[in-house]
Amino acid sequence: MARDRILTGYRPTGRLHLGHLHGNLGRMIDFQDRGDCFFFIADWHALTTDYQDTTYLKSNIEEMVLDWLAAGLDPQKVNIYRQSDLPEVCELFLYFSMITPLGWLERVPTYKEQLAQLNNKDVNTHLFLGYPVLQAADILIVQANKVPVGEDQLPHIELTREIARRFNYLYGQLFVEPEGVLSQFTKIVGTDGRKMSKSYGNYIALTDEPPVIREKVMEMITDPARRTRKDPGNPEISTVFHLHKIYSADLLEEIAENCREAKWGCVQCKELLASRIADSLAEFREKRKELGEKPGFAWEVLEEGLSKVRPIAREVLREARERIRI
Ligand code: SF4
Repeated sequence: MARDRILTGYRPTGRLHLGHLHGNLGRMIDFQDRGDCFFFIADWHALTTDYQDTTYLKSNIEEMVLDWLAAGLDPQKVNIYRQSDLPEVCELFLYFSMITPLGWLERVPTYKEQLAQLNNKDVNTHLFLGYPVLQAADILIVQANKVPVGEDQLPHIELTREIARRFNYLYGQLFVEPEGVLSQFTKIVGTDGRKMSKSYGNYIALTDEPPVIREKVMEMITDPARRTRKDPGNPEISTVFHLHKIYSADLLEEIAENCREAKWGCVQCKELLASRIADSLAEFREKRKELGEKPGFAWEVLEEGLSKVRPIAREVLREARERIRI
């Protein structure tokens, strides 16, 4: 049986946080032993919304690669590369753009949602509408058949399948129709109780040192009914308890009881959480520090990944051209 080809891309937004580790990054680490993995840094995608300020693009790419490696991705097992190093994607995107009806793009639900959400940026551009076609090219340039996604990304995978079908119908069978693999992410709340996200500024970065982690945990939202140490609390509405479920699962009952019966104060409860999070990231921090001391290492990894991906992409593009007769 052919091995699965698994593809996922990450926009280089800088340092990774706990939300990533328990979400897509955790899945990527699991996948690395289960198929041929293509994990790329989606720098062209980053430009679709952040084309006006590219100051940190390169440093963000470097940070992200090093964070991936420190978290456990092994470049000997997976292909790690940068999207913009693979111009074959761009050419395939062009052919797909020729055959994708405008209506297919306009009905992608995330398009209108994001236009409304990103009202502080001028994203009324050609490629902001067309970026699902670029995603289709990212996926099909390596003939990936599995794409781990969140539920909101499923329409993009459906669009990729439609594009593949249309190409195959017009020019002859070439592309596989990839499957979206739904990821059961553990939702990690940030320090303000909302979903942990860089854009909300409520995150704990994987590289945060223990004093920084402590400071952030101390700011976390608790049960507002616990105004004093003697007030009993409800752990289920406390952001701190939500994270204890992940980091202190062995002590959960005791922590809940201490809260409900006011056996300890929130500061003590938070101290425990901060030390649990800091301990869980100790190995990551050490590895990340070592990697950071090797100048240029991230670029070497991207170069090596590219050398493995490029022959595949070139062959797919050659076959696509042959079928189009171009
Ligand atoms: S004791 Fe802990 S779980 Fe309870 S409200 Fe305070 S911080 Fe939250």
